[in-house]
Amino acid sequence: MKTNEILARLQAKYPGENEYLQAVQEVLESIEEVYNQHPEFEKAKIVERMVEPDRIFTFRVAWVDDKGEVQTNLGYRVQFNSAIGPYKGGIRFHKAVTPSMLKFLGFEQTFKNALTTLPMGGGKGGSDFDPTGKSNGEIMRFCQAYMLELWRCIGPDQDVPAGDVGVGAREIGYMNGMYCKLARQYNTGVLTGKGLTWGGSILRPEATGFGAMYFASLALAKVGEKLAGKRISLSGFGNVAWGAATKAKQLGAKVVAISGPDGVCEIPEGITDEMIDYMLVMRASNRNKVEDMNTKFPDKTKFTAGKKSWIVPVDIAFTSAFQNELNLADAQELKKNGCRALFEISNMGCQPDAIHWMQNNGMLFAPGKAVNAGGVATSGLEMTQNASHISWTAEEVDEKLHTIMTAIHEQCVKYGTLEDGSVDYVKGANIAGFMKVAQAMLEQGII
Ligand code: GLU
Repeated sequence: MKTNEILARLQAKYPGENEYLQAVQEVLESIEEVYNQHPEFEKAKIVERMVEPDRIFTFRVAWVDDKGEVQTNLGYRVQFNSAIGPYKGGIRFHKAVTPSMLKFLGFEQTFKNALTTLPMGGGKGGSDFDPTGKSNGEIMRFCQAYMLELWRCIGPDQDVPAGDVGVGAREIGYMNGMYCKLARQYNTGVLTGKGLTWGGSILRPEATGFGAMYFASLALAKVGEKLAGKRISLSGFGNVAWGAATKAKQLGAKVVAISGPDGVCEIPEGITDEMIDYMLVMRASNRNKVEDMNTKFPDKTKFTAGKKSWIVPVDIAFTSAFQNELNLADAQELKKNGCRALFEISNMGCQPDAIHWMQNNGMLFAPGKAVNAGGVATSGLEMTQNASHISWTAEEVDEKLHTIMTAIHEQCVKYGTLEDGSVDYVKGANIAGFMKVAQAMLEQGII
């Protein structure tokens, strides 16, 4: 394989699809050496096939807002790769959603899901619908209209969507209700992230953040460090940051920053349980403002408009909001202020030059597809519970999640250990995920 030639072809074919091209470049660069040791992969054109989604559904979503006006959005589902299981991945509602964004997310999801040890292929969906400022009724009508088109493309053995940015248990509920009505069957296994009374798994809401903290603990232990006692920053204040803050606090770390599109909220003495609960209220309000935390807890927090979490001095930082949210200058500022490790919980949270700089300047770095895989892994556990009509206890799910995160960390160490004994987690995660999917594609022929 010649990475440069493949990338040049994709650039010419998909000009402007920057996130997709960025995600593909990162993976191809890290797997090139291993790939070239396997002539059978080259012969079957595994990479050329793997970078293209199996199919993309695009549809119009028309709905009526509270003023009675008709609104039109675009909806998508990218079914990327099903070599190791049914398509699996979230749905994102955000005004910036484009096919490029969902292609990058579906591509990443394929490798992430392979790392989880569970049989799940990669997919992603979404819409350019912006939930900010929308009423509950508007959210419901939009979710129903979106599902009106999507329902024929999904199913427990076909494609199993879940939440992502802008889609949580409320939205999954509205979509599941509409799905069951259209399909005329009570099918619990068609979406994950469901409510506990209608087929959801305990701990699924917490799982992405919990898994990230388990992974961080393992990576820190490898270099003789631990999470307890560390000052850490998170970005965003959504479901992922909420789960991460909960587990970080339980493990004895101090969360001193969260953020939103409006700015950063510093919490010098560390986040409290009351504040963690309030993150849920902020999310449900659809205001999308982290300043609300400062309004609620004025004595214990400080809000700075227009700034990101990365200005706050910490030991360890976690991206937990959006792709490319941390740039080179942010990485340099973090390091200058004493930060020693960066874990991506958001998908592709860091820009490529920031990653290279951190890796070359003695910072520990681990990519989203390994760190955040606990979310989709617990979706996989939800699918197992649904298929066997049972539900596990919190202890059972948590133990399985911990086992999976340990297995992911071990795969990264296996494929990413460098000559000096340190671990390149980007290389490790990409090679481990790739090898599994490539082998599965090879054994199932040219399709
Ligand atoms: N959106 C999450 C992710 O990026 C979860 C997907 C799922 O549970 O299917 O992995």
